[in-house]
Amino acid sequence: MAEILKGGPVAVALTEKAAALTEALTAQGVTPTLAILRVGERAADLSYERGAAKRCAACGVTVRSAALPEDTTQERLMETLEALNRDETVHGILLLRPLPAHLDGEAARQALRPEKDVDGVTDGSLAGVFTGSGQGFAPCTAQAVVEILDHYGVEIRGKRAVVIGRSLVVGRPAAMLLMERGATVTICHSGTESLPDITRGADILVAAAGRMGLIGPEHLAPGQTVIDVGIHQDPTTGVLRGDVCFEAAEPVVKALTPVPGGVGAVTSAVLAMHTAQVAGACLK
Ligand code: NAD
Repeated sequence: MAEILKGGPVAVALTEKAAALTEALTAQGVTPTLAILRVGERAADLSYERGAAKRCAACGVTVRSAALPEDTTQERLMETLEALNRDETVHGILLLRPLPAHLDGEAARQALRPEKDVDGVTDGSLAGVFTGSGQGFAPCTAQAVVEILDHYGVEIRGKRAVVIGRSLVVGRPAAMLLMERGATVTICHSGTESLPDITRGADILVAAAGRMGLIGPEHLAPGQTVIDVGIHQDPTTGVLRGDVCFEAAEPVVKALTPVPGGVGAVTSAVLAMHTAQVAGACLK
């Protein structure tokens, strides 16, 4: 029976740290503030926004919602971003993506002021992750993977880590963070052959393929720690599921994050912490 690595306690620990930081900042007249820029009313965006707002409130971080209609123009989007970039009372900006197809998401991503890029989406932030320079923030979900491993005392240095997924939001930055911490990392993707042969050799397996139940018993081995980043609503039951088939993994592996209640719970706490850190840096 696997140890269940719940995200809740990790989020609570991060919240306590962020709250201590925001309290100190507020005493000095600075209220850490996150602006969430959303276009349209996608259910996934609204749900993420609600979760982030709740977690930020627990951390003492103020959230400002900047919502644009679904049919907004690129010009209006860029103007809104620029206004948030200029606003000195806004410390962090979260741009909810993907944007509607008529908008240029690349241009919007790059327009974010690097200092306010609390979700590590700009090339500058990603460069920091890839060079290990420590400049900018890693994407919150990738950082959440490492926070969970650290919280539960999972050794990273010297271990074999396999990351499934090469997106710039999760897979690649998570792989870089694990490598920076001394893991020997293999990145798998949609072109990878014989996936089970590779994943079975992992000490730490990070599943971020965005394929519900992709990881079954044939991919797993005893002794592994499995971090399931995937979030999917099962079309038949409506229940939230991960990339890992939980029922198959739980009797086999050493430790496993649940879905829901795993990585997702930690991501918004990382976001709040990043925002507080930007506000703290403004005081220096
Ligand atoms: P994505 O679609 O951009 O990337 C998926 C990656 O998985 C790609 O690199 C692809 O090559 C790889 N892949 C797809 N099928 C594969 C297969 N059969 N074998 C091996 N590799 C395969 O998705 P993303 O934005 O990186 O998100 C991944 C998952 O994480 C999604 O389920 C998403 O909902 C979830 N997610 C969770 C959080 C969170 O806070 N928990 C945040 C962001 C994303």
